[in-house]
Order: sequence, then structure tokens, then C-alpha cells
Amino acid sequence: MSTSARVRADACPGVFATHDAEDGPLARVRLPGGAITKAQLSALADAADDLGDGALHLTSRGNVQLRGVTRPGLATRLSAAGLLPAPSHERVRNILASPLSDLAQELAPALDEALCAVPELAGLPGRFLFAIDGGSGDVAGEGADVCWRDGALLLDGTDTGLRVTEEHAVEALISVARSFLRIRGTAWRIGELPATEPLLRDIPGETVEPETFTTKPGLPIGPIGDDAVGVAPVFGRLTSEQARVIAKAGNAVVTPWRSILVFGTLGENPGLIVDPDEPSLGVSACIGRPGCAKSLADVRADAARIGHTPRVHFAGCERRCGKPAREHVDVLAAEDGYLVDGTWVPTGELARTLAQKGTQ
Ligand code: SF4
Repeated sequence: MSTSARVRADACPGVFATHDAEDGPLARVRLPGGAITKAQLSALADAADDLGDGALHLTSRGNVQLRGVTRPGLATRLSAAGLLPAPSHERVRNILASPLSDLAQELAPALDEALCAVPELAGLPGRFLFAIDGGSGDVAGEGADVCWRDGALLLDGTDTGLRVTEEHAVEALISVARSFLRIRGTAWRIGELPATEPLLRDIPGETVEPETFTTKPGLPIGPIGDDAVGVAPVFGRLTSEQARVIAKAGNAVVTPWRSILVFGTLGENPGLIVDPDEPSLGVSACIGRPGCAKSLADVRADAARIGHTPRVHFAGCERRCGKPAREHVDVLAAEDGYLVDGTWVPTGELARTLAQKGTQ
């Protein structure tokens, strides 16, 4: 890691510390485990309409961002909705949990509560990420610093060989975070540490030979069982109208794949993707022009013009905001075109180039 990267301040935005974007202040609202009640979703939809740009922007960590928040009052509204339970810890409540696992969804709020109860953990870097995987491998592949995967403890995506029962899962995750805070120096992520053994001391569990686990991306889109449905807004931009339709159907879980698990039946569908074969499901893009001054292009407009493609992420600059943790084709805005996995392609040739990638 470069020295300049180490000394930069933690710039992860929250509700109190917003990010100054070209389209106005950006606020990130953490949803531990992605869980959101219908009342909370309605409150966010109202806040987006009254204070922001009228949309909820889903993130690759299962959180929600409000953009263009030029009017005051967001923190008061979110507190009233129960979305800001611990202001001191708001930027460190970064917890992924398998959306379809009851166990993971039960452990996520327990971890959140335990995290917020430890004052020193408010000092974790905003990038530090917890994951609780019910065993399917869905969130275990999403780049978490520490993950409890159905008994296995993973650091930076790699099995440590330590096996921890579900009764001790929260305690183990908190213990790793505390130890990281003690030894991190200026590192932001566990992957930046020279050695990870000190993080595992004092964790109750059994040690076995480390395994290589497979991972399985994504939430199914479309009906899931009798009373749930997986939906996705295009490019993760959930309009307030779409949010209200979901809230009417029931409680929900926002996933790190910019999709939403809705516990209920959608009465109407104002443009949400419910077809698993929809081509745009494999395409993600940063906000690009005009929302971000750093962008060289209106990446979402260009991304919307491509057809069937392998998993691909469009970015307006080298920061590559929101890029998926999993394998994907990298499409980076450049002078008069894009770099596709590093090779320059004129914008008019993008669809053909990406279609070819899909058949290779
Ligand atoms: S990747 Fe670059 S252009 Fe895109 S939103 Fe991030 S900073 Fe802006």
C-alpha cells in the first residue's frame, strides 16, 4: 500500500459527514444485513423526495445513498425511523448478511447491537466490512474483512481454519474487529496487514485444516417461494415511487447486488426488473456524468445502450466506485471511448466488443 493511501483521511460518507458531489451532498445510510422495514423504506422514499433527488441509490454493500441532499433535516427523519440508532457508529455499521438465510438475518442485528455497544469500535475505518454467510457462499465472496460462514471464520476472504459455533459468532466477529483496531496502524482493511494471526487470539473455537469454499453470487430475480420476490432497479437507482410500491408489499432486504428481496407480493410494477433474463442485470455503473465531476462520460447512458453482456462494470474514472467484488469486465471511461479490460474501444464499438467478450 502506498504511503499516500495510508495517510489519507477516512472519507467514507455517512449521514452526518456527507460527501460533496457535483449534484450536491451525498448521504450514505447503513442498513446492517440489508434489512429494512416497510415503514423505514417509506421514510427513505419521503426523504429522497423532500430533501434529495427523488431516488434511493443502492450500493454494492447493501446500503442506500441519497444524492443531492440540499435541504436540512435528514438525520432527524432517519433517527425517527430507527435508521440511526448509534450516531457515533453510523459509518462503521457495515454488515452484509445472506438475504435468504434466516440465521444470517438474525445474527446481523445482534452483531450490529454488539458493535454499537463498544465505544472504541466507532474508530474502525469506514471501509471495514463484516459478513455473515448462512452457508450458501452468497455474501462470503463480497470482499468482507471478516466473515462468519456457517461456522467457518474467514479473514479477507480466506478460511482461517477456525470453527466457531453460531452462539459465539457475534463474539468472534467483534473480537477480530477489536484486535484489528489495536494492531492496524494505518491500515484500513485486514488485507493490508502483514500478518493476521494476532486477530484470532482469544476466539473460542476448534481449529481444522483450512478449506477452499465456493461462492455463489447474487439473489435470484423473480418469485422466491410463495411469498417473496427478488427485484432490481436499473443501475440500482430505486425511484421513490418504486420504493413505495415495495413498502406497500412488505418488509425487504437490500442486497449487495443492488437488488431487493421483498417479503410480499408486488401489486404493481413501475419499472423494476423482475425477469432473471433481463440483459441489464449484469451491468453496473458508477453515477458518472453529470452527478460526478470526476467522470469523463455519462457512463450510465452508454451502459444503457449495450445489450447482452457478461458481468460488466462501467466507471467514469479510475476510482471505479461501486465495482463488484466478483469477477467482471472492467469498462473505464477514456478519451473518446472506453478502456475495456485495459484496451481502448471507441464508444460506438462498445456493444459489439462486450458481446464478443460474452462468447469467449
Ligand atoms: S468512479 Fe470516478 S467518476 Fe465514477 S462516481 Fe466514482 S469518482 Fe465519480
